[in-house]
Amino acid sequence: MTRMRDCIFCRIIEGNLPASRVYEDETLIAIEDVHPQAPTHLLIIPRQHLATAQDFDSSHRQLIGSVFLAAKRLAEERGVAEQGYRVVLNCNRAGGQTVFHVHFHLLAGRPMRWPPG
Ligand code: AMP
Ligand code: ZN
Repeated sequence: MTRMRDCIFCRIIEGNLPASRVYEDETLIAIEDVHPQAPTHLLIIPRQHLATAQDFDSSHRQLIGSVFLAAKRLAEERGVAEQGYRVVLNCNRAGGQTVFHVHFHLLAGRPMRWPPG
């Protein structure tokens, strides 16, 4: 699987940078965000290094589906499924992306505003 030496999420996936892992399987990991923006703020990170969502192609259909199923299960585990949660993908700079290894935010535990900033 593609690894990027200078990518912080690749380093976390490899175990070379500490992170609070809350879930992992063969295709993705989930960690606690280091700067949480809500009482629950997890990052669901595919193991494969893809810089942005623009790198997704049809070979990633199953991976993308796995992310949302993981989000659903994690929300249930955290007890936030019923009250509600938000799954966010920031793509490229104007989309708010700062780490260029594709990932999904799972945010919950407070009311989410709309539209997002
Ligand atoms: P984004 O702005 O969508 O690219 O999200 C990047 C997220 O990664 C931000 O919410 C950061 O707080 C988070 N983050 C950056 N470095 C780490 C790290 N070492 N461990 C956990 N979360 C991190
Ligand atoms: Zn990476």
